[in-house]
Parts: sequence; C-alpha cells; structure tokens
Amino acid sequence: MKRTFKIVGNWKLNKGIQESLSLAAEVTELTKGYQSVAIGIAPVSLSLHALAQKHSGTHIHIGGQNTYFEKSGAFTGECSPTLLKDAGATFCIVGHSERRQIFKESNEDIGKKAALCLEAGLDLIVCCGETEAERETNKTNAIVESQLKAALMNCPKGLAKNITIAYEPVWAIGTGKSATPELAQEAHGFIRGLLETHFPGNSEHMVIQYGGSVKPGNAESLLKMPDIDGALVGGASLKPEDFAQICNIANNLSN
Ligand code: PEP
Repeated sequence: MKRTFKIVGNWKLNKGIQESLSLAAEVTELTKGYQSVAIGIAPVSLSLHALAQKHSGTHIHIGGQNTYFEKSGAFTGECSPTLLKDAGATFCIVGHSERRQIFKESNEDIGKKAALCLEAGLDLIVCCGETEAERETNKTNAIVESQLKAALMNCPKGLAKNITIAYEPVWAIGTGKSATPELAQEAHGFIRGLLETHFPGNSEHMVIQYGGSVKPGNAESLLKMPDIDGALVGGASLKPEDFAQICNIANNLSN
C-alpha cells in the first residue's frame, strides 16, 4: 500500500540560531512544491522556537530531538514535551541510539517519554536498532522487539497514526555504511509485524523510516522497498542540497 513518505533531518548538536534559520530557509526554498512528502527538521532545542515561528503554516515541520519524561519540576537542564509543544514543535524523536548509548537511557525511560509526548499532543518518532555485535550474534529481532515493546507499552492504541518508527541500525549511523535495501527491508517487515500486534488493523498505515547514512546516492534504492516509508537523516540533513535531493527522490517515488 502507498504511504506518504516522511523525511526528517536530525541536526543533532549542530548550528546556532541564525545558522539554523538560514539552513532551514534553504531547505524550505529547495523543497517547495514537493507535495507528496512530509518533511521535518529537528534542530538544537535552543533554535526550535525561532524555527517553529518562521515555519508555522509551511510544509516544514519542526520537532525536538529529545525530551524528558516529567512534565515540570526540579529537573535541572531538562525540557518537557509540553514545553516543546509550547515552543512550536509538532513532533519529537525519542530513543535515538546516541541517547541510549551516550546518555544511558533505558527502554523504560523511552517508554515514559513516548507516552508523555503523545499526551502533550506531539507526534512521535521512536528510534530502534541493533549494534554491530548484536547483529553478528543474531539478536537483531530480539533487540528491536524489546525496544519497541517498551517504547509503545503506554501509547494509546487510538494514537497509532501519530507514531512513526525509525529503524536505525547503530552500525550504520554516521559511519557512511548504510544497510543494504534488502537487509533494511527485512527489519522493516519484522517491525511492521510487531506494529500489527500492538496496533491491530493500523500497521499498514504507519510510517517506518530507515536511518543510517542515508544520502542522495542510496535513498532511492532504500525508499523503493515496500516497508520503507521514509528516512531519518543525520549528516546529509546538514547539507541543504543533499537533504532536498532525498526529499525530491521521495516525492518522485510517490507520484
Ligand atoms: C541519525 O543520527 O539518526 C542518523 C541516521 O545519522 P546519519 O544519517 O548521519 O547516519
């Protein structure tokens, strides 16, 4: 079945406010007229409000790279889903492998963040994926299943349409070594099955993005796979022409 492709740029810890505004303006200009693809940008949280104001009502959606699992209180340095929403975010990424690995976030933490994002009215991008060692020891499916079960456990069934999954094998992130389309499709097919168990009757409509060294040169072969409905893009999203080209490929494949 045909799903609307969703391409999201994760800018990670890059670009100040003015640089972010310029980069987003370039992306907006380069992608205007792409009617058949949903496009998102997740900037550094400090820039989010300025970008959201600038892009309100345009085809570019602005979202958070991360959030905290409490609404407010004595949690120095944190930002809640409600505050992201207040700043103009329409979505939030949770469970990125850098959060899991560097900041030691647990599956349980990510489940709490996911539920709170939905409660705050944000769409969700839930990341999952195995390390190289886990793949080599045939643990990919078990890892992805445990990550997604925990992340989705407290997500209301009725909000399936607000949830995107990003399959991001850790060994492919920022390495230039993308998964082959066939390998990615195998994981996406497995994830679609898990979604059907969790959200019966809804999985066919849910977007599953691939992430891990997506570039203009490999985007088409990945997006042509039946269960790959978009991409979460790191490095290439900082290059407006490359990001726009990936969006263009998705747009053309939809038409
Ligand atoms: C990411 O950080 O989500 C990502 C996929 O990065 P890259 O595209 O650089 O591999």
